[in-house]
Order: sequence, then structure tokens, then C-alpha cells
Amino acid sequence: MNVIAIANQKGGVGKTTTAINLGTALAAIGNRVLIIDIDPQGNASTGLGIRRSDRIRTSYDVLVGDTAIEEAILPTTIPRLDIMPATVDLSGAEIELVDYDQRTHRLTQALAVTKARWEVILIDCPPSLGLLTINAMVAANSLLVPLQCEFFALEGLSQLLSTVERIRARFNPGLAIIGVALTMYDRRNRLTDQVSADVRAVLGKVVFDTVIPRNVRLSEAPSHGIPALIYDHRCSGSQAYMALASELIPRLSERAVAA
Ligand code: ATP
Ligand code: MG
Repeated sequence: MNVIAIANQKGGVGKTTTAINLGTALAAIGNRVLIIDIDPQGNASTGLGIRRSDRIRTSYDVLVGDTAIEEAILPTTIPRLDIMPATVDLSGAEIELVDYDQRTHRLTQALAVTKARWEVILIDCPPSLGLLTINAMVAANSLLVPLQCEFFALEGLSQLLSTVERIRARFNPGLAIIGVALTMYDRRNRLTDQVSADVRAVLGKVVFDTVIPRNVRLSEAPSHGIPALIYDHRCSGSQAYMALASELIPRLSERAVAA
């Protein structure tokens, strides 16, 4: 069982785009995949074509209420790909959960009953290191960090890594970093090459060889409510997410062997 939190407290670095398209790529090659949207923005839900009116039970009800995960799961148009949707209600959860004894373990507890239904669970985190992201990191066995190829890419990473350290020490010693994915790579921009080289020098082989290019198809697809991989499977962005999935699979089994 692979539960992967896709997290970076920086906004707009490609977390949701990665959750949707990596999830679709993994489903396309035969895995049963669940995407858990725990971002109040609900972008993963929208990008997978889940209408607001269909989000009757959501991750808010699962985290804050007593709703079983099963009641909140919806199928997507992609075979083998399910989603637990989110709505803006979830923005209240950070505050409401503060009073709960088990506030850091709400998602872990909810998943305990049913997670065997899926081979891979991807959690699309919000751009913060608050209780929602902490719930994801406690429930996950690994973390995938999208990093945008821009000048300040590494800034903020130390804060993310120290959060991971705290989660390991207190709640989840097995939490591994499965990989760092460079996103929005622009071949024509020499700065992105420099950033990519710097990130690899600092982080080493945890950085995936696959880089996700800046590709307009990736940004167009969500407005159609479908993954880029369905919208245009030949575009460079879709191809990169397929390559990322192939690179991820052996890392997942290595993790399973190590565990
Ligand atoms: P947030 O922190 O707000 O949740 P995020 O980290 O989930 O953001 P995305 O929503 O995936 O980031 O991406 C931010 C914006 O950039 C979106 O409009 C998305 O369509 C676009 N985008 C993401 N990746 C790429 C890419 N490789 N090429 C072009 N556009 C991209
Ligand atoms: Mg997002």
C-alpha cells in the first residue's frame, strides 16, 4: 500500500497538476488509484471534472465529521481512478480540528478501514504546513515534493524538511521522501537549467531524472475537467507525467522492500 502526500507549502508549484496527471498515468498502467483532495481550493476535484453539486460528502466530512471514506469517494471518468473531493468548507477544518484529541491522525484513522482498495493513494495538499498537510504526512508512507524551476525553488524547502523531521520524530518514523519532481521546466530559459543543476547538487538522487516541462496543455486541461493525459496525451507535459510514473514505480517497490 502506497500512500503518497504531494506537498510543498509554496503555492502554485504543480502539486495538483502532479496529483491529477501522475494519478491518471498510474491508473492507465493498471493501478487502482485514489486521489484525496485535502485542499479547500478543491482544484484536484475540479480538474477531474467533479461538479460542486456532486460533492455531497467531502474530505471535510471525513476529517471533521464521522463520514466514512467510502461515502465520500466518487469515481472519475478515468477507469481505476477515484477521488475524495474537497470544497471550500475544508478551510474551516484547520480551526475546527484544533479541539480534537486525535487532530493529527484524522486521515490516518479514516484510511485505516479501507485503504486496501487502492494500490496507490495520492494526497493533494494545500499550500501550507497546517493541520491538513500534517494529517496527510501522518497518514502517508511517503512524500513527493514538486519543486518549481525558479530562482527561489530551494527557499522554503528547509522549512518543509524540518516539518517532515518533526512528523517522523513524533508520529510517523517511516515517512520517506519518495522523490522531488522539478516542474515548469523551461528549456529556453537558462535560469531554469541553473536551478535544476543547483537542486540536483543539493538534494542528489532523490530528485527524479524526469522533469516536467512548462507546457500550456497542462494548464488548459483543468478547465475542461479532464487530466492533460486525456486532453492531449501526446503533449510534452503528458509524456513527462507518464515518464514520472515509470520512474516512481520502482521507487515504490524499493520502499516496500526496505519497509
Ligand atoms: P496550490 O498551491 O495553489 O494548490 P499547486 O501547487 O497545486 O497550487 P498547480 O495548481 O498544479 O499548483 O499549478 C499552478 C498553476 O500552474 C495552474 O494554473 C496549473 O495549470 C499551472 N501549471 C502547473 N504545472 C504546469 C506546467 N508544467 N506547465 C504549465 N503550467 C503549469
Ligand atoms: Mg493545488
